[in-house]
Amino acid sequence: MSAKPCRGCGKLVVFAKDPDGKWQVLDASAPVWRQSGVKEGVAQVVRDSKAMVSHFSTCADANKFSASKKPERNFYEAEGAD
Ligand SMILES: [Zn+2]
Repeated sequence: MSAKPCRGCGKLVVFAKDPDGKWQVLDASAPVWRQSGVKEGVAQVVRDSKAMVSHFSTCADANKFSASKKPERNFYEAEGAD
């Protein structure tokens, strides 16, 4: 498993296949914590070193790759927000 830089933001990502055979782009080093339970109303978590985060949820340039982000960007352009 080798990491390569994202074509958008340059962060290191890993390409892997899911059970459906689809390619997933994952963060190479994002820390992932798994909830193990709740104690006195506070979530208890443990580090899961084998879990990885989808790079589409963390990429600063995700709107370059995702068609679903375009309407949101158009909304902000229409409102003149920067
Ligand atoms: Zn990226």
